[in-house]
Amino acid sequence: TTTQCSVLIVGAGISGISAAKLLAENGVEDVVILEAADRIGGRIRKEEFGGVTVELGAGWIAGVGGKQSNPVWELARQSNLRTCFSDYSNARYNIYDDSGKIFPSGIAADSYKKAVESAITKLKNEESNRDADVSVLAETPTVPKTPIELAIDFILHDFEMAEVEPISTYVDFGEREFLVADERGYECLLYKMAENFLFTSEGKILDSRLKVNKVVRELQHSRNGVSVKTEDGCIYEANYIILSVSIGVLQSDLISFKPPLPKWKTEAITNCDIMVYTKVFLKFPHKFWPCGPEKEFFIYANERRGYYTFWQHMENAYPGSNILVVTLTNGESKRVEAQSDQQTMKEAMEVLRKMFGPDIPDAIAILVPRWWNNRFQRGSYSNYPIHINHQLIDDIKAPLGRIYFTGEHTNEKFNGYVHGAYLSGIETSEALLEEIRTEKERNGENKAFL
Ligand code: FAD
Repeated sequence: TTTQCSVLIVGAGISGISAAKLLAENGVEDVVILEAADRIGGRIRKEEFGGVTVELGAGWIAGVGGKQSNPVWELARQSNLRTCFSDYSNARYNIYDDSGKIFPSGIAADSYKKAVESAITKLKNEESNRDADVSVLAETPTVPKTPIELAIDFILHDFEMAEVEPISTYVDFGEREFLVADERGYECLLYKMAENFLFTSEGKILDSRLKVNKVVRELQHSRNGVSVKTEDGCIYEANYIILSVSIGVLQSDLISFKPPLPKWKTEAITNCDIMVYTKVFLKFPHKFWPCGPEKEFFIYANERRGYYTFWQHMENAYPGSNILVVTLTNGESKRVEAQSDQQTMKEAMEVLRKMFGPDIPDAIAILVPRWWNNRFQRGSYSNYPIHINHQLIDDIKAPLGRIYFTGEHTNEKFNGYVHGAYLSGIETSEALLEEIRTEKERNGENKAFL
């Protein structure tokens, strides 16, 4: 079967939904949204675990409390989303060694200061290397070696570098972060947005313009229009297409382009780094970790960098849930995705017993999201170098004839975040609306339409 519409949107994550909403608000309602999964939300995804709702993907609203309001915080307020304030800054005072001792705060603070200084030196060196023809190293940054240095290095580099470099999210929207702790899930923000332009009933989207379980495999494009073929053999034709699939999907061969994308585009796509970020959830019969103020996050220092380093208890979000979350990234994420959850539980328990002693109870359930192996994701989010080459992101985002690219990876200021994805959808639709207006003028059509 062949379906025709004015604009096709591939992907119903937050960028696809915000793009569709803006089009609808501007009179372009003849839209079809094709989503590969059986649900909307993409990397915003809840699951029931251990009696509560946990967020497998985005968990925080980052950038709150500043001069400018974060648009996702506004959406959260409109939906009365339940959130908890998170304070990472104390994590450095809860660093455990292999024998279960917490590093004295003086040592921890000292190591932290040194790591920040070293990261700043490293950045400065990179900057001068880039600007000068001859590379002269002003100072040599210290290489992290001891377990505590490695743990801090991991936190600084694999989480955020706010102390090292200004990050637009915190500069523009404020430094506070709120953990989403709502039974309806972070994804309820998407449903709330969708309600404005799609037909819904009892919280379900029933509008035929949203099509789930539609995996786009082929995209044909020409000067006259676009046409896609889905895995189940359906064909959709449109004047324009907005592609909101992740950078990982663009790097994979899930979608074949006919004609193929030009070299400048494929090169830019290949040059964007992907971060894999995995939250492993563990449920216990009772809690054995310290709670109370300043104890939400704790760190395990080991000679292996990133090995079950960063822990969080969920007692603030859901008191009595007896759930711990450990965050793994990149190589460790891929390793854990490839092994059985039983093996991961065993490793996590060994680490916990080093921190809290041999008598703690075994976990009774484990949940390991697999963002890397998910063919509709292939990673967690884009990771541009700090000294970003603006051309790279411009090329990734640049439309190609009738194909418009959107998603968190196309937002230079806020890539990697929910608000980055949300804003990218709006920006892309604004550009497309402009193009539609121009095309209408070219064709001498009635300009009053838009
Ligand atoms: P997506 O949500 O990925 O949407 C793209 C959609 O396209 C998906 O639904 C996918 O199924 C679909 N698709 C893919 N291929 C096809 C195809 N061939 N055909 C049809 N459909 C297809 N951000 C924060 O702000 N705070 C956080 O705390 C945070 N933590 C995170 C933790 C994890 C583990 C992850 C994975 C992400 C996290 N993020 C966080 C980032 C945030 O989730 C993303 O930036 C944002 O959700 C991306 O939205 P998007 O619309 O760009 O992409």
